[in-house]
Amino acid sequence: MNITVIGTGYVGLVSGVCFSEIGNQVICVDNNESKVEMLNEGAVPIYEPGLKELMVSNMQAGKLSFTSNIGEAIQQSDIIFIAVGTPSLPNGEANLSYVEQVAIEIGTHLESYKIIVTKSTVPVGTNDRIRDLIRSISQQPFDVASVPEFLREGSAIKDTLNPDRIVIGTSSDRAIQTLKKLHRPLTNNLVITDIRSAEMIKYASNAFLATKISFINEISNICEKVGADVTRVAEGMGYDKRIGSAFLKAGIGYGGSCFPKDTQALIQIAGMVDYDFRLLKSVVEVNQDQRMQVIHKLQEALGSLAGKTIAVWGLAFKPDTDDVRDAPAIDIIQHLIDAGAYVKAYDPIATDNFRKELDTASISWQDTPIHAAQGADALCVLTEWKEFAQVDLQVLAKMMKEPVMIDGRNVYSAEQIQTSAFQYYSIGRPGLM
Ligand code: NAD
Repeated sequence: MNITVIGTGYVGLVSGVCFSEIGNQVICVDNNESKVEMLNEGAVPIYEPGLKELMVSNMQAGKLSFTSNIGEAIQQSDIIFIAVGTPSLPNGEANLSYVEQVAIEIGTHLESYKIIVTKSTVPVGTNDRIRDLIRSISQQPFDVASVPEFLREGSAIKDTLNPDRIVIGTSSDRAIQTLKKLHRPLTNNLVITDIRSAEMIKYASNAFLATKISFINEISNICEKVGADVTRVAEGMGYDKRIGSAFLKAGIGYGGSCFPKDTQALIQIAGMVDYDFRLLKSVVEVNQDQRMQVIHKLQEALGSLAGKTIAVWGLAFKPDTDDVRDAPAIDIIQHLIDAGAYVKAYDPIATDNFRKELDTASISWQDTPIHAAQGADALCVLTEWKEFAQVDLQVLAKMMKEPVMIDGRNVYSAEQIQTSAFQYYSIGRPGLM
């Protein structure tokens, strides 16, 4: 099939590459010309394992190309995917200006029948609005569908080529048949539904996962008070098939470009129909508080943080990505600086992106975890990058001014801690303190 994907971010680029990988002819469009230039040279503007190799091989096979000329791309395609960003507005609502701009451009360039598919996460009713916008501009025939994206950064290629399910929301039989054919090589789990249910499935899924995370984090806080170990509690819960073990890892809470914005947006969507989504509001509040566990534990260990040097390992919101959007590290480092601390920060991939969010003279950027920890009063682990788990803690403890560690992701095992000199604080594992 001939496909256009508009937006070459984490979702658009990965989707475009994977659609070409399964035999389609794909044109990816972005209005950021320097990004398009980079992509045409075979360089990937984001960090995503396996993406570059797959992208280059499909470009070389002539199945994948990049352009900033949206009109030409649309005219050469049967299916047009919208994969631009929908970031939060200050009140938590989704900012639909990028999606609407793209809808207008599609309407302007339509010359024959197309299927227009929204992959961006958009509030219920947005695809109806997209249809109305295009209809107000063009007399050409077209159908609209919602096919929300569920990939996870860090395993985006695998998730896209082996998705748990594909949701197709549309009222058009013609669009259903085409989109079924397109996605069938990826999975048999096709959920065919109406547009509004498809839009809601995406928000409900992310809100549910966020709820699981806040739930286990609250359990971890109670574990600390009653002397239970949250990792064993989660293990014992997770074997129950009704519960499942995924997203039951206690830590300093979720971040990233999706959960924080999508939970806020769903609260707003509910509010607009006069529904007070109390459970989800609590999930968000618990998540925000959980980030501060790091600060509380540091204060417990060191007293005042003024003048202290704190090493921070991990800036990305999770491992295997360079994405720092709404990463817990942003809030935590800001608190450390506000409390008068000096921060030595290290991340294997995300430092450049992080510096665009937060960069002051109180932070120094380190090129190895060891350099960051050297001479520090305490070390905070904020992202569970694999390389952190492999560090020799006995050697590490000797390099620090004080061997104090706040392990915000429960990276280290009891054995590793017990053979080290660390004064160790983790999340919900009071036995290791
Ligand atoms: P992103 O910010 O990484 O990428 C968006 C891209 O769209 C940018 O390259 C931007 O230049 C481009 N763009 C903006 N306006 C454009 C226009 N008018 N024409 C052409 N290109 C334009 O965003 P993302 O993380 O890929 O997310 C995209 C959507 O997918 C969002 O709605 C998000 O919620 C959803 N989503 C994201 C993820 C994820 O893990 N990142 C997962 C599932 C769903």
